[in-house]
Amino acid sequence: MEVSFTKEARMLRRGAGETFHGEGILAITKALLQSGVAYVGGYQGAPVSHLLDVLVQSKDYLAELGVHVEPCANEASAAAMLGASIHYPLRGAVTWKSIVGTNVAADALSNLASPGVTGGALIIVGEDYGEGASVIQERTYAFALKSSLVLLDPRPELAHMVRIVEHAFAVSEASNMPAVLTLRIRACHVRGSFECRDNVPPAISTRNALADPAAFDYGKLAHPPVTFQQEKRKTAERIPAARRYIAQHALNERFAGARGDLGLIVQGGLYNSLVRAMSEFGLATTLGDTQLPMLVLNVVYPLVAEEIADFCRGKRAVLVLEEGQPAFIEQEIAAILRHVDIPAALAGKDVLPMAGEYTVEVIARGLAAFLGKHAPDLALGEGNAWLAATAQRRDDVARQLGKPLPARPPQFCIGCPERPVFAALKLVQQDVGPVHVAADIGCHAFATFEPFSMGHSILGYGMSLASRAGVSPMLARRTLAVMGDGGFWHNGLLTGVQSALFNGDDAVLLILKNGYTSATGTQDIISTPADDGKEHAADKGESRVHDNQVIENTLRGIGVSWLRIVDSYDVTAMRATLDDAFTSDFAGLKVIIAEGECQLERQRRVKPWRARELAARKRVVRVKYGVDEDTCSGDHSCIRLSGCPTLSVKPASDPLRVDPVATVLEGCVGCGLCGENAHAASLCPSFYRGEVIQNPSWGDRFAARIRRAVIGFVQPA
Ligand code: SF4
Ligand code: SF4
Repeated sequence: MEVSFTKEARMLRRGAGETFHGEGILAITKALLQSGVAYVGGYQGAPVSHLLDVLVQSKDYLAELGVHVEPCANEASAAAMLGASIHYPLRGAVTWKSIVGTNVAADALSNLASPGVTGGALIIVGEDYGEGASVIQERTYAFALKSSLVLLDPRPELAHMVRIVEHAFAVSEASNMPAVLTLRIRACHVRGSFECRDNVPPAISTRNALADPAAFDYGKLAHPPVTFQQEKRKTAERIPAARRYIAQHALNERFAGARGDLGLIVQGGLYNSLVRAMSEFGLATTLGDTQLPMLVLNVVYPLVAEEIADFCRGKRAVLVLEEGQPAFIEQEIAAILRHVDIPAALAGKDVLPMAGEYTVEVIARGLAAFLGKHAPDLALGEGNAWLAATAQRRDDVARQLGKPLPARPPQFCIGCPERPVFAALKLVQQDVGPVHVAADIGCHAFATFEPFSMGHSILGYGMSLASRAGVSPMLARRTLAVMGDGGFWHNGLLTGVQSALFNGDDAVLLILKNGYTSATGTQDIISTPADDGKEHAADKGESRVHDNQVIENTLRGIGVSWLRIVDSYDVTAMRATLDDAFTSDFAGLKVIIAEGECQLERQRRVKPWRARELAARKRVVRVKYGVDEDTCSGDHSCIRLSGCPTLSVKPASDPLRVDPVATVLEGCVGCGLCGENAHAASLCPSFYRGEVIQNPSWGDRFAARIRRAVIGFVQPA
């Protein structure tokens, strides 16, 4: 993990009398330390990766406090880590991306929630829902319901989020329920400041370890028959205790407004968007002064029936703003109002979409529909005009383009080692015919977009090999499972490789070994090349991933006998190896490891090295590819085979040529794919490899003079 979080790590040390400035997710991280957390774990994933990244780089400081931090192998191991809080009065926090991470953690979560916790247990999940999300769209709410977890959804304001984290530990201890704090993307990245408190070293810690383990207590095992009592205790004791704490400490907030006959009940995380939408109608200032009374649910499960009833009593109509489906909150509120015979009309999913992100515009449309029906006296002209203008702008663009604005999907970085592998896969299918590609989670999923459009299914992180188990026997041609090294360690080794070997499957697995869990921010994994802090030849640009052979050794160790290791950028060799895997007589599991370091990490290492060399006036050579436009045929097959953003087109300088020619833009990192593709696919010979030499030597200058003279002789100006 080569991104440096030095500034953020310094911010964590701040204490009473100092102010914290920064992003929401870092404020949450600081709040953990202010709450006396004893251990922290998790698995990286947007939008919460930052939490663990910063803590891992603050290990020295955490050791001073006695706090243990551990990046976990996956979310299941992170959830299992919370088992420390079952017996011991230890506050623990783990983090991951939801819903996918919560799915992976589900078994351990159930087994944690059943006996319950003694020390506060907090799970911070990145609720990756809505526009910009990178996972399937489901809510964490269902897990809170089924396992009886306190679910917090704080209003995105830094001081408030910090307060909620501190209460989250306390409510967990008061109720013995693990707590989950959901953070949407916007909450993680919202910026602000708050007055710090001193960090609290935990009473039991790595500096002050317990002399003896807890005494045996069968009641704290998730194991029948005690689980029957535990299940009853959830509803008889724990949820009521959580409700008492929530009400006593006013975790949910009420904001008064002049229109007492109406009310809005909103998930805390949607508060900022709601206020912004209301401000368009002149119903709130951007600072939150509102005309419509609001109940902000910073705790969305369990709901406190008395709070809901108090808020709704005397109102004509109430709107519930609840993002995503099913309408868990709205349904429960409907039941509460019916139980206590409060006649307020209840609106929610009838005026707002059942699924999808509640953006400001979506909320504004729902608000307009609600108010149009229940408060026709309110002047909404200003807001309706804003909504109409927004729709008009969108229509105007679509009209000009002849279609709606095209989507701009993410794609591989410039020079990514995974792009050449998919170019080779494209070529090999010309030889063997189309193959079923079981795709996976990771950067390689970008191959599902143009120009590759490869991948038939994605069943989860590290699940590609397992997901082709039912397909392979049904197809005449071998299938291909693609997996990254991150996915391999997260789940793929056990669910895929072990199962395929055990069942003697005739399968092909392609592992993209780039050295990191790149898609989540290039965090280290067990197969990341070791960093000893010294400068090596590899720092100047060579891939380092070959240094670590743990994947290869693991595969051999469990019985993979057909194993090939291929340089990712060698398109010809990769094409031949894939061809061999698809056509070989060997009927067992065939594994190809495509080895090439994540270009993002490589550039992070190379750029500072290059800057240092240049500052010292040393000779630096940078490789760059180019296109000779005289030989470019203009068919652009190189672009269709590569997709590199720096391989583009430009108008031909020859006025007789109407088609644009290919060109390589300035950002080329010289990965070599252009040359490899031209060779492997027998493209036109227009690519050339150039070397840009900075601080040239005497020999370089002399050679350049000779070259210029020879060129001038054979090709006079
Ligand atoms: S982060 Fe690394 S592996 Fe991912 S697309 Fe970029 S270069 Fe490729
Ligand atoms: S060599 Fe080609 S594929 Fe590689 S970075 Fe340059 S333009 Fe992109």
